[in-house]
Parts: sequence; structure tokens; C-alpha cells
Amino acid sequence: MTESSAIKSLVRYAIREHLISPLDEKWAINRLLERMKMDSFDMDAEVFESESLENLLKVLLDYACENGLCEDSVVYRDLFDTKIMGVLTPRPSRVIENFFEFYKSSPQEATKYFYHVARRSNYIREYRIRNDVKWVTSTEYGDIDITINLSKPEKDPKAIAAALKMKQSSYPLCMLCPENEGYAGRVNHPARQNHRVIPMILGSENWCLQYSPYVYYNEHCIVFNEKHVPMKITKEGFKRLFSFVEKFPHYFVGSNADLPIVGGSVLTHDHYQGGNYTFAMAKAPIETLVSFDGFDDVTAGIVCWPMSVIRLVGENTASICDLAGKILDKWRS
Ligand SMILES: [Zn+2]
Repeated sequence: MTESSAIKSLVRYAIREHLISPLDEKWAINRLLERMKMDSFDMDAEVFESESLENLLKVLLDYACENGLCEDSVVYRDLFDTKIMGVLTPRPSRVIENFFEFYKSSPQEATKYFYHVARRSNYIREYRIRNDVKWVTSTEYGDIDITINLSKPEKDPKAIAAALKMKQSSYPLCMLCPENEGYAGRVNHPARQNHRVIPMILGSENWCLQYSPYVYYNEHCIVFNEKHVPMKITKEGFKRLFSFVEKFPHYFVGSNADLPIVGGSVLTHDHYQGGNYTFAMAKAPIETLVSFDGFDDVTAGIVCWPMSVIRLVGENTASICDLAGKILDKWRS
């Protein structure tokens, strides 16, 4: 396949997937030519409608490597093909407008649209996710999901050597900061030209929704504070989790521990994990009921699970948050 064919096919792909409009076609071809430093184009080039995104990008990546636009190793190739896909990803304002337009129909329509953009823009590299190994194993605690994630790029010796020589950068402050949206990346920070974020208010604070590029389970999303503030589990946090599931009842949301090693991988930026998935722990039954004075409207119990889990069930979210806060304080003291 020629580079012109790959560019033309890629632009048609973006139109087919509603990332850009047919009105954008010539503009998008020219933007891609600019990225590829090509000053001519074969207008009669064949379009390969059924070619995979991965293969179309491969043609352009190979050309870029052969012509000195990109080092031929995985980190540099990821930086380069994200630069290409950034051209074909709708602007943040368009994604946000569409998201809230779909939200008027239903929260499901809104997340379906947003997840579609995340996958088709190659922000989620689906061809890598397909390499993940997943199975279900039955245990005394129920059927447990096991996953071996292989989609994070493998270690790239060229990039590691280059990163050692780089000056420390404090922009963006971390991998979760909203300033990642559109960032070109560098050898020690992923490119995010195709990354989009949905702003929302949880409680009285500005928070954001994004998908995880590594998809540990269906529609794995990350809900994060607009500000770079450290992770801290509090009663206010429990209220915030409820505020999120009230907006997106088809999603679950939860927090990693705010502790090093056993907790979240980014403790410097307050965030939660959510998605459209039911984990084995949520299906496990309660083995011992427990009652708490003053909380008659909450059913509590110890869950049949290999680690300590207390489940609180009730209609009154304020009571659940109060009791969760009380248990948290007791556990910390
Ligand atoms: Zn941050």
C-alpha cells in the first residue's frame, strides 16, 4: 500500500467512524501530509475500506522511520502515530458538546459515544488490548476474574537511554492532570493528542471523566479531580462516589487505597476507577450480618471474600456515607 493510499484510507476511516465530517476530508488529508512532511499526494490512490487501523498506521509509521521522521522503536512509534491520530480526533469542545447532547437521551448514550471516540481515535489501542490474557476461575469465593495485562508498551531500550539524558519536566504535573489532553508527549511521557476529558461537577468540586487507555475491564474509566491534589479517602469522597453513580447509574465507581504499594498507582492526584463491569467481589454473598447503633436503615455485613470487606446496603445514601466514614475513622485509629 502506498502512503497516499494509507492517508486516504485513514481519513475515510475517520469519516466512517464519525470522528470527522466528510466536509473535513481535504483538510484532514493536508494535515496528515504536513505531519508526514509529504508535499505531494496521489489523488487517485486506492482506498482500502476494510484495512485495519493498525495496518494503515503501520504504513505511515514505516515511511516515517525510513525517512528520518521517527526512531524505529515502540515508544517513538507510539508518539508518532498519536500525532497522526490527533489530527483525526474531534476537538475537546466538540466531544464535550456531543457527550452532553447524548446525555439528554440517556447517560448510557453519552458514555457509549465517549467510549467510541476513545477506541476509534486509537487512544485505547485495541489491537494491543486483544493480547491481554483473561480467564475466569471458580473458587470458594465465587468465580474470580484473572487478567494478565500485556497492553502497556514493553520496555524500549532506546527510549530509556534517551529519557536518562532528558531534563526533568514538571508539565503535565502527572499522568492524570487534565493538561494531558492534547499533549504531544515525550520519551518518558505518553502522547495524548487523541485524549479527551469530560468535565463534571461532583459534590461542589470540578472533576473529570476519562477512559483508561489500558482497559482492565469493560469501559474502564477514571474519574479524577480537576486539580492536582493527593489521593485521600474521606467521608466527602464517599459522597462524591454516590454523586458519580447518580449521574451514571450503569457504571460502578470505587477508590484504590490512598496508601503506597497496595494502593493506587498515582497517589499524587486524587482519582477513582469506574466502568461498566460487575466484579466478583460485588457478587460475593454476605457471610455474617453486622448491626451498627444508630444506623437501622443500613444493612451491613462481612462479605465472603479472601480480604476484609464490609458491605453496606441501604436506600439512604447519607446514612451509608456516615457509617462508611465512621468505619473508616475506626479502622485508621
Ligand atoms: Zn496530576
